[in-house]
Amino acid sequence: MKIITSIEEMKKWSRLTRSRGKTIGFVATMGCLHEGHLSLIKTSIAKCDTTAVSIFVNPTQFSPNEDFDSYPKCIESDKQILQTTGTDILFNPNQKDLYPEKFQTFVTVEDKTNYLCGTSRPRFFRGVTTIVLKLINITDPHIAYFGEKDWQQLEVIRTMVHDLNMDVSIVGKPIVRDKDGLAMSSRNCNLSKSEKNSARVLSQALESAQALVIQGERSVENIRTEIRKTIEQKQGTKIDYISVCDPESFTEQTEINSKVLVALAVRIGSTRLIDNRIIGKI
Ligand code: AMP
Repeated sequence: MKIITSIEEMKKWSRLTRSRGKTIGFVATMGCLHEGHLSLIKTSIAKCDTTAVSIFVNPTQFSPNEDFDSYPKCIESDKQILQTTGTDILFNPNQKDLYPEKFQTFVTVEDKTNYLCGTSRPRFFRGVTTIVLKLINITDPHIAYFGEKDWQQLEVIRTMVHDLNMDVSIVGKPIVRDKDGLAMSSRNCNLSKSEKNSARVLSQALESAQALVIQGERSVENIRTEIRKTIEQKQGTKIDYISVCDPESFTEQTEINSKVLVALAVRIGSTRLIDNRIIGKI
């Protein structure tokens, strides 16, 4: 595996790889790699001739009161993990190269970012779309892989790629969970043992919502009440949002008449976690 830090060198590798007729798969990450990242990376390796993985903790998607400084960093073990996968390139750029002093250009997807994480994290999507656009421009992949764990982010990226006529295919992959249902996340490293135990309540609440719908419940209000009850039974949890919405537009629903996205953001101590599940009329 080659490690590239320079933007110019990364672009040169992509040009050369394309000129040789090889396809490039790309996975953007913020590091502290886990099985969720690895499912994207393994799919890219299986489907594309070459795979580039980026590790960059993107400052522009964090608001000043958020966890940029405490975001977990494990670059040395990440390198070792990536070596074992067959990844061709680790792109690990510097902040000052990606955001030089007079940087002043951002890309914003409008409607879809006004819901869910967009309401509680005002800078988040503008930062995500800007860095993803930059990383795609630099790595120039044929296919870029993203996780459904960040469902809204995936939809926002699909919208940007469509609206800006970008020449890349976006492929989404299902959420990878641990054996107890907790969605894998780099932020799980920041949870204490008891917080990790409480964190399982997110997937449990989504399962209880699914069970209600299977039993015939159609009222979103009743489903939301059940989810809230399940989460609040665990100590140290603070609900940011519970949304039962259209999976593409994110508008809130009142009745389950078709497939809906149930999306949660919950604080466990000082760590904010998200999870989601598609449930629908059976
Ligand atoms: P991050 O490093 O958290 O920015 O995530 C990088 C990519 O991995 C994003 O496309 C995420 O949606 C994806 N990802 C993170 N956690 C998971 C998971 N548990 N299952 C599937 N994909 C994930």
